[in-house]
Amino acid sequence: MLKLYSKAILLLLSATPLFSFSQDQAFFKAPGDTSLVSTDLHIHTTFSDGSVWPNIRVEEALKEGLDLISITDHLEYQPHKSDLPNPDRNRSYDIANKTAEGNALSVIRGAEITRSMPPGHINAVFIKDANRLLFPDDPLAGIEEANRQKAFVFWNHPNWEAHRKDGIARLDPMHQELIEKKLLHGIEVVNFTTFSEEAIEIALENGLTMVGTSDIHKLTAWDFEIPKGGHRPMTFVLSKNKSEAEVKKALFEGKTMIWFKDLLIGKEVHLKQVIVSNLTASSPVYSDDKLIAKVTLKNHSANPLLLRYKGPFTFHEDGDVFEIEAYGEKNLLIKTLEKKSVIKLPFELLNGIVGKKKYLNFEIQTQ
Ligand SMILES: [Zn+2]
Ligand SMILES: [Zn+2]
Repeated sequence: MLKLYSKAILLLLSATPLFSFSQDQAFFKAPGDTSLVSTDLHIHTTFSDGSVWPNIRVEEALKEGLDLISITDHLEYQPHKSDLPNPDRNRSYDIANKTAEGNALSVIRGAEITRSMPPGHINAVFIKDANRLLFPDDPLAGIEEANRQKAFVFWNHPNWEAHRKDGIARLDPMHQELIEKKLLHGIEVVNFTTFSEEAIEIALENGLTMVGTSDIHKLTAWDFEIPKGGHRPMTFVLSKNKSEAEVKKALFEGKTMIWFKDLLIGKEVHLKQVIVSNLTASSPVYSDDKLIAKVTLKNHSANPLLLRYKGPFTFHEDGDVFEIEAYGEKNLLIKTLEKKSVIKLPFELLNGIVGKKKYLNFEIQTQ
């Protein structure tokens, strides 16, 4: 009887997806007819120097609400080789992809081409065959082959203190050459727990796509304190839809926003599109003959919004700087001097970074 019962449970389990993401709200409202695709394009497993089997990466990503991931094991650095000979560098992808079958998660093929500086570590995603990227004695041949496979190629952790003692990201002539030849398309401005404003500047000056990744080696739940409400760094791609082809196209076009701790990072145009879709203001209400408008601001996103008001009015109960918590609301009492049916609200988003020491400026108006 017990046996039959457990068999039935097993059958039931095997017929249902592994996990479904329980959060009923999206992380961010997507602007207009755009999809905001949550991605992590830098992940390790036991097939290089990571500590877990590829199926766990898929299960983590599903629990954490990701739409698309790439397993990017080091091609050359294989510290578990004596236990796991790994002659086929596509295996970690194959296992992850099989695990993801039947779930709303895309797994794309990737690899980390691992070199000393320059060029350092380079990720290639949307590749076709990782084995063909193996050129241990040539600094550039793997990158050239990745480009022949039409991969999206980006420079990992340019601020890594093992490669840059001062933690400052800067280009070497080899990177400049790769950019000129269009062999390098993106740069990590966020890697694991680190952030580089200099990398943002490099991206803006050289037309590179900004990327933020977990570069996870152990468990995301531990390293990003997910049980306490934390999240891994994610790159949101502003794509036409969630198909792999459109995500790849949007990555090449630089259409990204990075979510890192409580910060949002991206090119001004993209960050603005997302923020104006995620902050709304109700119509002003005046009581009796008073000239103080009550407006309710609503944050539709999973990130707190730290705002500085840049307009002419003063508030009855607040200063110019205030925060609206994730998915939260805030009532503002605005001293408008005369009754207004519509109020324009210009803001600076102090946790919205669009350049080195530069924050997003935007304006919304009441409904
Ligand atoms: Zn690396
Ligand atoms: Zn890595």
